[in-house]
Amino acid sequence: MADFPISRRNLMLISAAAGLSACVKTGATPVVARPDPGLEPGLRPQPNASYDRWVAAFKERARSRGITDATLRKAFAGQGYLPGVVERDRNQTEFKRSLEDYLNIVAPEEKVTFGRRIVAGQRSALAQVEAKYGVPADVLASIWGVESYFGTKRGKIPVISATSTLAWEGRRGRFFESNLMDALRIVQTGDARPSQLVGSWAGAMGHTQLIPNAYQAHAVDFDGDGKRDIWSNNPIDAFATTARFLSKAGWQRGRIWGLEISLPQGFAGLVGRRSKKSVSEWRALGVRAARGGAIPDHGPAAVLAPMGFDRPAFLVFRNFDMILRYNPSENYGLGVGYLSGRLAGKGPLKTAFGADRYGLDLEDRKALQAGLTRRGFDAGKADGVLGKKTTAAIRGYQQAKGLAVTGTPSQALLQSLR
Ligand code: CA
Repeated sequence: MADFPISRRNLMLISAAAGLSACVKTGATPVVARPDPGLEPGLRPQPNASYDRWVAAFKERARSRGITDATLRKAFAGQGYLPGVVERDRNQTEFKRSLEDYLNIVAPEEKVTFGRRIVAGQRSALAQVEAKYGVPADVLASIWGVESYFGTKRGKIPVISATSTLAWEGRRGRFFESNLMDALRIVQTGDARPSQLVGSWAGAMGHTQLIPNAYQAHAVDFDGDGKRDIWSNNPIDAFATTARFLSKAGWQRGRIWGLEISLPQGFAGLVGRRSKKSVSEWRALGVRAARGGAIPDHGPAAVLAPMGFDRPAFLVFRNFDMILRYNPSENYGLGVGYLSGRLAGKGPLKTAFGADRYGLDLEDRKALQAGLTRRGFDAGKADGVLGKKTTAAIRGYQQAKGLAVTGTPSQALLQSLR
């Protein structure tokens, strides 16, 4: 994939920044944040007089909220307007993907294999966090996997630049100004050095990609080393922070998020997260566990069948809604739920996704990408997720072949590439 970025969705974490006594830190050497030379030009500061005026006015507001000149100097050194961040924010909605594509992006087989190995090394940390907050280790590990590829992709975009750019841009100005303010508090208390404040385009940081608001509201020093540290290589504070967030949101200990189900022919139930029924009512409507056995009764449940009744379907309980408090996308919730099962040793989904609207299934799409690349039209990684790069490759191929240039995949196109 990676021919279009996973746009970091808006973390709907509630800002509750007030009133937290921050840990007092000492000895943090001020290190000026420098743009990573590996970042694309749009993610390196560019001149923008309007942004500069906004920052000057913002600094006054920050001072009035107790941010010192020293903090402002340290935090803003080397930071600036990042046009690439605005671009990502605006393009977000274009990247609505099908559940199948989403699962192929966040939980492909090689990631499951990698994750099982990495998570084995964190078993004790995850168990301790689960014991305290009641959120299952596999769910926490799955969030870790979805958010940062098990800590290996924590983001490199400077958070002060990203949040100030989006606050200046204004579409969600208050939200990002509030996060910018909390990022400055992180610098001021010494929880992190400015150079550590890097993350996603929307300012999400660390192993479980917490935005500054969420950090200030929920961060935990779980290992007791005096730092609420979501940035270092040890993910335990990030696990605990995420678990605490879910626990406070209302996670029910001892209950599952949901499970894959199969629906009967002519299923007549209402689907969607708002149509909750008891497990016995769903059973009476013919809903069965896809892997067989009884459906566990963990309270009122909803049926989700995002790609149709004959495709993978799920029964989701209250804890699923708690995952959505972390990120409000149903695909996200199902991705976390699915990957948690895989990390716990379960197999892939029982029900196949089948052919897409172009008549191609996953293996067809992978073969299409591989065929295009083989013929010199780079379709990106052959992961079966067709994005901009594949479309461009199809167009290039069609043009070279004297075909109508549609950029649309098809069985005929695939056959011509074999
Ligand atoms: Ca700590």
